[in-house]
Amino acid sequence: MVEKLSRRNFLKAAVTGAGLTALFTSPITLSKAEETVNSYNKKPKAILIDVRKCIGCKACQVACKVWNKLPAEETAITEDEYTNPTGFSANTWCYVKFSEVKDEAGNISWRMASVRCMHCLEPTCVSVCPTKALKKLPEGPVIYDPNRCIGCKYCVEACPWHVPHFDEERKVIGKCIFCVDRIKEGMVPACVANCQTGALQFGDRDEILEKAHNSGAQYIYGEKEAGGTSMIFVSDVPFEKLGFPKVPHEPISTYKTDLLKSISGIGVATFIISLVGYFGVKMLVKRKAQVKASSKGV
Ligand code: SF4
Ligand code: SF4
Repeated sequence: MVEKLSRRNFLKAAVTGAGLTALFTSPITLSKAEETVNSYNKKPKAILIDVRKCIGCKACQVACKVWNKLPAEETAITEDEYTNPTGFSANTWCYVKFSEVKDEAGNISWRMASVRCMHCLEPTCVSVCPTKALKKLPEGPVIYDPNRCIGCKYCVEACPWHVPHFDEERKVIGKCIFCVDRIKEGMVPACVANCQTGALQFGDRDEILEKAHNSGAQYIYGEKEAGGTSMIFVSDVPFEKLGFPKVPHEPISTYKTDLLKSISGIGVATFIISLVGYFGVKMLVKRKAQVKASSKGV
């Protein structure tokens, strides 16, 4: 059952989160839950994110920063916005989204959702990347090779959840990689390892989906969105109320690729027409010069 908390308590929670953020620069030890070992296999993996169990402690957010050695960023807390930081960046791969929810009787309560890259089953970001810097692994993670990234930002534009962000200093994108290094060692992702309430659970996607359907939650998000994702959210309130975008169920990669093809088709056609025009004009000028020269008897 979700506990109703006052604004004051939430501000405290947010401040605690900010306090934890300050720890990013000092080495902290991951909790005992880190030792949780999952037998590694190549079956697609997923994380179950139960917003009914999340208390907004931001341990997942901190663990992500620590494990991935991501630098701290300056953030601010306002009375109206307890989500801190307020979104993804090249160095913020996981954060906790706070939502104030009003029921029909006008009662206010809160829900918190730990968000990160959805690790789509058919990722649009991968389909639009011209250099194949982004790649989908059979186990689920969508990873990227910074050395192949040319900074075109197609993935930034194409992602329906606005996950990848471009690091202007390093000239590469940054986003969650599903702790692929940990998964391959049979460990659970750092965010999951540090969640003390069971709001985050890791496992094979088919088992996670079964858990989601048996969880008693009225709403599931991520099972079908964009053709299905590796992040499966469950909630007792509709996801629109939690600020989650409505995403079509068919894979977006298909029409994004078609769109890009048509754009590049137009681009190629324009290029050919320009070339023909250029050489046509050049030949005309040359011919004119020849005619002029011959008329002068040179
Ligand atoms: S959520 Fe965005 S960045 Fe993550 S896999 Fe899907 S399309 Fe790519
Ligand atoms: S660690 Fe667990 S309880 Fe804490 S904010 Fe993250 S998901 Fe919520």
